[in-house]
Amino acid sequence: MALLLDNVSYVYGGGTAYEKQALKNINLDIPDGQFIGLIGHTGSGKSTLIQHLNGLMKPSSGAVYFNGADINADGFHKKELRSKVGLVFQYPEHQLFETTVLKDVQFGPKNLNLPQLEIDLRAFDALKMVGITDDLYDASPFELSGGQKRRVAIAGVLAMKPEVLILDEPTAGLDPMGRDEILDQIDKIHNERKITVILVSHSMEDVAKYVDRIIVMNKGEIAFDGTPKTVFSHYKELEKIGLAAPSVTYVMHDLNQMRIPVSTDATTVEEA
Ligand code: ADP
Repeated sequence: MALLLDNVSYVYGGGTAYEKQALKNINLDIPDGQFIGLIGHTGSGKSTLIQHLNGLMKPSSGAVYFNGADINADGFHKKELRSKVGLVFQYPEHQLFETTVLKDVQFGPKNLNLPQLEIDLRAFDALKMVGITDDLYDASPFELSGGQKRRVAIAGVLAMKPEVLILDEPTAGLDPMGRDEILDQIDKIHNERKITVILVSHSMEDVAKYVDRIIVMNKGEIAFDGTPKTVFSHYKELEKIGLAAPSVTYVMHDLNQMRIPVSTDATTVEEA
């Protein structure tokens, strides 16, 4: 089991007038190699949850385990964890800062004090994975298109050789073509490298055709957790929390075309 969350809750501003419980008793296991879509409205707790997975945030109660070790225990190496559980924030291109594409991607491995050859190989490999060709290595990141910038930023995280790759709304602000390009690229990385991928999105249709599992968050809790087919069988409940029509109808249509029967009653409940 790559990651395990045991009854994790998180409260912002505890004890103040602004107290807000963002996560409520989350229990999750995330096995190696799975491709997961983490879905929910703005404010449902997705960002708070993923920041618990690489130790950026600490649960108010409960525990997070990575490969069996409690990541918030004394003596646990958080720096190592952050290279193994790579987090690509929303609009990651805002964090590009080096003078060239290559230097930007080399930045992370350099900080690990690796030999120069290893730094170079990791950067070349990561850029290749995201489809950035070598004629762009010496370009300034700021000369690139929006989609290219984002791919360079993702390469920066991939160069750390993460075992788990978490992407927070990687398609935000991209046009439909840029969106499909990024999603196809992420799918390819998952297939080729067999790493665990957690794709955060507020859109079911963005992720449904790629992922093995969908986790739906609502008001800080896990509303549904299962295969896309199982989750979509709760169409009516998804509609109630505003996560269905028209997007889900469209995806169900797709699934039907793939001859996967989708029921609309709740007989195949697989709640977390
Ligand atoms: P999502 O990523 O799904 O949009 P978030 O994890 O950002 O959701 O937010 C979950 C809840 O926590 C929301 O109600 C949000 O307003 C609240 N929240 C998020 N960040 C903070 C913060 N820094 N201080 C107080 N409340 C916050």
